[in-house]
Amino acid sequence: MIKINDFVAFSQTIYSERPIVLHRPVFTQQEQEYVRDCITSNFVSSIGKRVDELEERLAKFVGVKKAVATVNGTTALHVALHCTGVRPDTHVLTQSLSFVATTNSISYCSAEPIFIDVDIDTLGMSPISLRNWLETNAKTTNEGAINNKTGKRIAACVPMHTFGLPCRIKEISEICREYNIPLIEDAAESLGSYVGRKHTGTFGIAGTVSFNGNKIITTGGGGAVLTNDLDFAKKIKHLTTTAKKPHSYDYVHDELGFNYRMPNINAAVGVAQIEKLNEILYHKKVVAQKYKEYFEAINIRFLQPINGTRSNYWLNGIVLDNRKERDAFLEITNANGVLTRPIWNLLSTLPMYKDCDADNLKNSKWLADRVVNLPSSVPKLD
Ligand SMILES: *Cc1c(COP(=O)(O)O)cnc(C)c1O
Repeated sequence: MIKINDFVAFSQTIYSERPIVLHRPVFTQQEQEYVRDCITSNFVSSIGKRVDELEERLAKFVGVKKAVATVNGTTALHVALHCTGVRPDTHVLTQSLSFVATTNSISYCSAEPIFIDVDIDTLGMSPISLRNWLETNAKTTNEGAINNKTGKRIAACVPMHTFGLPCRIKEISEICREYNIPLIEDAAESLGSYVGRKHTGTFGIAGTVSFNGNKIITTGGGGAVLTNDLDFAKKIKHLTTTAKKPHSYDYVHDELGFNYRMPNINAAVGVAQIEKLNEILYHKKVVAQKYKEYFEAINIRFLQPINGTRSNYWLNGIVLDNRKERDAFLEITNANGVLTRPIWNLLSTLPMYKDCDADNLKNSKWLADRVVNLPSSVPKLD
């Protein structure tokens, strides 16, 4: 049993703020300066150099050929799925243990998610469960993988790197290649997380990140699609900018596009943020190390990346004994101004997804009862 009051006292040695929030962004003078420049130049909206700059710096940071900035992470995922050929009457394999945006973006394509269990150590899609499901339920054809039960195409697989812990993406990518299923990683939480020397979100046709206010770096709201395929990047850029053909004055839109582009004023914040990303990652690790020592000493599992992977420690978490202990922990910490949070309710339990196909989700259910997130902000930077 965890001594909850002792934990409250410990968290107050890491953070001096009251209450201690789950995650707050860190800003310096740079953000204000870049936003001020944006406003004085009038380039606040869909045209401006900060968007290009953010895209270039992000691509360089994660090691891909192109990044396309979007208005948030959900739209990044939606447009990446759309561009990959996720259409009505197709399936997308994903995990039930995730934030709702992962499956919502699948539904925006009028496709149907199928929920695959996660690994108990990574909290991300289990390659063993993925293979099991495919061996029992799918066949490969010239048009790709087909679900035997429904006859519908499996148009994509979307694993997610939970809280910044990389999932077994190499194995997943291998299985997807075998079955001819396009791989798109939801890397919204894992900017700065690696498998070996390769950044998460770069293993499939595309990966997506989020710059929401609670993520590792922020643009207020924002996101991006990462890809090594230049034609794919071009298509994404075209679709996110209303599918308008370049012309000096005429309005020609050659297909149904979206207004998903990131405004320049948000990108200005993003450039200032990405300049300090390495510093943020350093401080994240320092905070995680403190928690790790504390929880190791009292024999409670602190979430950590598996061997050969590196986490950005976006959100720290622990695994408690059972749901009752979890509820007591949430109740007492929150009453004492330490704003801990439970992991998400499984997406397969939500009203709009409860009838979707799923495997037994054994680990997902086990984790959903036991995992809580701990305050994980980095201290103020100079
Ligand atoms: C944050 C997040 C997203 C995207 O969120 P936006 O708020 O739209 O930027 C998608 N998937 C996961 C798992 C996330 O945590």
